[in-house]
Amino acid sequence: MRFNLVLMGPPGCGKGTQAIRLARRFSIPHISTGDILRQAVRDGSPLGREVGALLATGALVSDTLITSLVQDRLTKPDVSHGFILDGFPRTLAQAQRLGGMLPDDAPLVVALIAVPEEEIVRRLSSRRLCESCRITQSVSDASDPDSESCPYCGGRLVRREDDEASTVRRRLATYAAEAEPVLSYYRQRQGFVGIDGLQPPERVTTALFAEIARQTT
Ligand SMILES: [Zn+2]
Repeated sequence: MRFNLVLMGPPGCGKGTQAIRLARRFSIPHISTGDILRQAVRDGSPLGREVGALLATGALVSDTLITSLVQDRLTKPDVSHGFILDGFPRTLAQAQRLGGMLPDDAPLVVALIAVPEEEIVRRLSSRRLCESCRITQSVSDASDPDSESCPYCGGRLVRREDDEASTVRRRLATYAAEAEPVLSYYRQRQGFVGIDGLQPPERVTTALFAEIARQTT
């Protein structure tokens, strides 16, 4: 069974973790736009230099530029058995362009991992970053987050600035405004599935496997 997957969901929905599991299970590449941008900068290609200049000034990477990079990535041989896209398409224009890049013989499955805003705020504001080794980790509700030290290196755990509740709410509002047109575009098409992201991660994985099997047989 060959398919291509677009994984969608708000920040903090666990999309990255699920993408890694799915990539392993189906032996297909996990293509995140973050990785594509970093790779392009490292490669120093003309597009990469353009991206590097934009990122250095904090400017947004345009629809056209990110679409070109994804299109280029989808010509690599490792996607011949399918791929998982994470972070793309982010706009309706990108979704429409993606339609034209897909092979005819593999269905596109679009999976939304849905998590209510309150839960995202709770999850993200319980994340801490280790000042020494820079590993991000979640702290349990029971423990006193301010007295915890890093289980990896013993360093001091601090709240990431962009994980403050008010910042999280702003990021979610931005995400929702961007994602809604993309979601309504895919909702009207075959292959769209919604997954309850409130379940434990293992159950989310099981649900994703089941839905993908249902969409591809
Ligand atoms: Zn550490």
